[in-house]
Amino acid sequence: MTASAKPHLQLENVSRSFKLKQRLLDTSASTVQAVDAVSLHLEHGETLGLVGESGCGKSTLARMVAGLLPPSSGRILLDGEPVHHESGAHVHMPRSVQMIFQDPFSSLNPRMRIGRSIGESLEVQGMPRDKRVKRVEELLNMVGLAPEHYNRYPHEFSGGQRQRIAIARALAPDASLLICDEPVSALDVSVQAQVLNLLVGLRHDLGLSILFISHDLGVVRHLCHRVAVMYLGRIVEVAPRDMLYESPKHPYTKALLDSLPVPVPGARKGHPHLGGEPPSPLAPPAGCHFHPRCPHVMPQCREHIPEAVPISDQHQVRCHLYT
Ligand code: SF4
Repeated sequence: MTASAKPHLQLENVSRSFKLKQRLLDTSASTVQAVDAVSLHLEHGETLGLVGESGCGKSTLARMVAGLLPPSSGRILLDGEPVHHESGAHVHMPRSVQMIFQDPFSSLNPRMRIGRSIGESLEVQGMPRDKRVKRVEELLNMVGLAPEHYNRYPHEFSGGQRQRIAIARALAPDASLLICDEPVSALDVSVQAQVLNLLVGLRHDLGLSILFISHDLGVVRHLCHRVAVMYLGRIVEVAPRDMLYESPKHPYTKALLDSLPVPVPGARKGHPHLGGEPPSPLAPPAGCHFHPRCPHVMPQCREHIPEAVPISDQHQVRCHLYT
């Protein structure tokens, strides 16, 4: 990691709510709190994993960080400079922040040759064609493809190759911060490992910072330095990777880890399995959102939202068991 006084990315109490109409002609609307007062930071050259079940708000958070959605409140800072303000006013993210989506096919124009797709942002910047072609060929090499792929169309590639193309496209404008939203979850397991290894190599070679979003703690373990666990819009635990996997504190993190496959047949991890579905974000439980599923629930859990408390230097948890 490069030394820098300010984190590459910082989120200060970032929230995002949406108004939803229950029925077509209904004039009343319900509010969904998709992201609720999230504070996080990402250092230069670091990979932070953000994990949680589907619908917990991690993709909404990713879209805010990528500048595709303004927060309802809170601040997002890049190198200490705010890019979104308390007012929720939208400010364009710099080109150094790029997003990689789960489905590379839908993020690539099927009628555009991939060389042109990768170089599109360079074309917008006004880079001359010969320089652009050279840079795209360099990017194709960097992601494990060949210069002769330049003139092919997206449908001529496999899912893993298309994700490599999406990564090359994100890197084209000299990206230094990648927001990866479930980038390998649509791929076969063997291909997943190749794309993850590619990201690890690129992070090392280019000094990238990566916010890596996934529902899969197994995948996150492979490449993240720290991990943040999200449940119904709130961060419930943050810790360096090994600390989180070896000594999880929050009952939700323990249950998520317990649901990972165990390599030894018949082995048990000793944590309770996660029961039931996550509650609807339209009517989240009061107090600790996790209380209806928690094996350690106490009376105060049903009424009071737990504060984030430090367990050690870099390990924080939001649970009344530790307050
Ligand atoms: Fe369980 Fe209470 Fe902790 Fe929530 S605050 S995780 S309900 S013990």
